[in-house]
Amino acid sequence: MLRENNHEHKVNQTRREGRIGLIANKYLKRIRAAPGKKIRLDDFSTDWAQERDLKDAEKEAFKEKALKILDENRAALASAQELLWASNVYSILIILQGMDTAGKDGTIKHVLSGVNPQGCKVHSFKVPTEEELDHTFLWRFWRALPNRGEIGIFNRSYYEDVLVVKVHPERLRNLPPGKIGKKFWNARYEDINSFEQHLFRNGTIILKFFLHISREEQKKRLLDRLKDDEKYWKFSLTDISERQFWNDYQAAYEDAINATSTDLVPWYVIPADHKWVARTLIADIITTKIRSLDLQYPQITDEILAKYREAGRQLEED
Ligand code: AMP
Ligand code: MG
Repeated sequence: MLRENNHEHKVNQTRREGRIGLIANKYLKRIRAAPGKKIRLDDFSTDWAQERDLKDAEKEAFKEKALKILDENRAALASAQELLWASNVYSILIILQGMDTAGKDGTIKHVLSGVNPQGCKVHSFKVPTEEELDHTFLWRFWRALPNRGEIGIFNRSYYEDVLVVKVHPERLRNLPPGKIGKKFWNARYEDINSFEQHLFRNGTIILKFFLHISREEQKKRLLDRLKDDEKYWKFSLTDISERQFWNDYQAAYEDAINATSTDLVPWYVIPADHKWVARTLIADIITTKIRSLDLQYPQITDEILAKYREAGRQLEED
C-alpha cells in the first residue's frame, strides 16, 4: 500500500511538473552571472528583453502563460520541499538582494506561499545591532542558517557588508586599524567565498538572486508608496537619500557579483521591473535546483514493510 501511494505521488508530481524549468532554462544564459567573467550590470536587462519584441496581445498571452507556470512551480516547490525535509541531507539557502523597492518581500510572499512553514525560515537583516557589531560580520548569518532539510531565505544578507557599507564606509565599526581600500574589500569577498564553499561542501545549496530594477522603475514604485495610505508603511525617507547613491550601489553590486559568482554558487541577475517576470524566474530556478538533487524518500526494508502491513491489518480489525 505504501509503495502504491508513493508511485501515485510520483506520477502526479511528474504530471504537475512537466513545465518546470522551461522558462529558467531558456533564459539561464542571459541571467546567470558567468563565473570568472567580468559582467556589467548595464548588459543585463531589467525588463524582459524578449518582451519588448512581442506585440501587446502576445505579451498578455505570454504573461498569462508565465503566471500559470509560476502556479505550477509553487505546487512543485511544495512537494520538492517535502522531499528535501524527508531526506534530511541538504538545505537550501536563498539569498535575495536588490535596491529598495526591488521586490524582495513580494517575491518571498508569492514564491513560497505554498511551502510548509515548518520547513521554511525567513530572516530579514537590518542595520546590525550593538551585539552583532561586537562580532565578525558573518556571525549573525551563521546563526540564521537553515537546518538540514529546510529552506532558509535571507532577505538581505552578508552581501550588505560589501554593499551598503562599501557605499558608506563610515558605517564600519569596531574594526582593527587599517586602510579601508581595495585590499579590505577583496578580503571580505574572499571571506564570503570561503564561507559559501564551506556551506556548499556540507550540503547547503545556495541560490543568490539580485533583483535588478531600473532607476525609473524605482522612482515609480517609491511614488506609488507615497500616493497610497496603505503603502506608507513601506516607505522610508532613507529610500530617497540612498537613491542619490544609485551609481555607487550599482558599482558595488557589480564588484560583489564579479568577485563572488562561482561555479558552485553563481549569481542570478533577475530582470525585476515586472514583478511577475522576477517571480516566475526565481520560482523556476529554485524548483529546478531542488529537483536536480535527485532526492529520495527514505527507503524502507521489506521486513519493516511487512510489520507496517501487519500493524495496518490489526488496526482495521480494531
Ligand atoms: P529594509 O530592508 O527596507 O527593512 O531596510 C533594512 C536596512 O538595513 C537597509 O537600509 C540596509 O541597507 C540596512 N542594512 C542591512 N544590513 C546592513 C549592514 N550590515 N550594515 C549597515 N546597514 C545594513
Ligand atoms: Mg525599505
